[in-house]
Amino acid sequence: MTTTEKLNQTIRDIPDFPKPGIIFKDITPVLADPKLVSELVDWFVDKAKEDKIDVIVGVESRGFLFGMLIADRMGIPFVPVRKEGKLPHKTVKYAYELEYGNATMEIHADALKPGQRVMIHDDLLATGGTAEAAAVLVEKLGAKACNFTFLIELSFLEGRKKLNSYNESVYSIVS
Ligand code: IMP
Repeated sequence: MTTTEKLNQTIRDIPDFPKPGIIFKDITPVLADPKLVSELVDWFVDKAKEDKIDVIVGVESRGFLFGMLIADRMGIPFVPVRKEGKLPHKTVKYAYELEYGNATMEIHADALKPGQRVMIHDDLLATGGTAEAAAVLVEKLGAKACNFTFLIELSFLEGRKKLNSYNESVYSIVS
């Protein structure tokens, strides 16, 4: 079985979470399968090597899970992007529109150096607004958003189109 097939079989669909009508993709069964986790990290590390990535930026909160593992496997830094008010030091902020309402994301102002090549990682790509916000923050610090990686892409929401304005390199394992 391929990595994609294994991941597809392991993700759990939760109907009506967090609201009626939404089918939530639950990755907790994936975290409980160490062999699969290791295979998924390999998959992401290949993309990081191909694009000569220096730093992994993970998006709160499920982007921290694999983001940190990828960084550890590569021996490179991990940087968190968080929702407003969570990071303790001086931050740079970016406010963006959601389907309903808006949100603000932050990164520590000293977290990246100009010119660093960054992978933006999250568990799931939906409309692309969250990953795009992370890319804006990376570029505000003078670093380069070189690629985007996800375990899951909800392709019908066309998030990839939004991210392609930054970069053609959008990789997801299951679509
Ligand atoms: P977007 O900004 O519309 O692309 O939404 C992506 C963000 O929402 C990511 O941070 C995901 O973790 C989260 N998200 C949306 N739907 C799901 C889901 O079904 N499972 C897990 N996370 C989700």
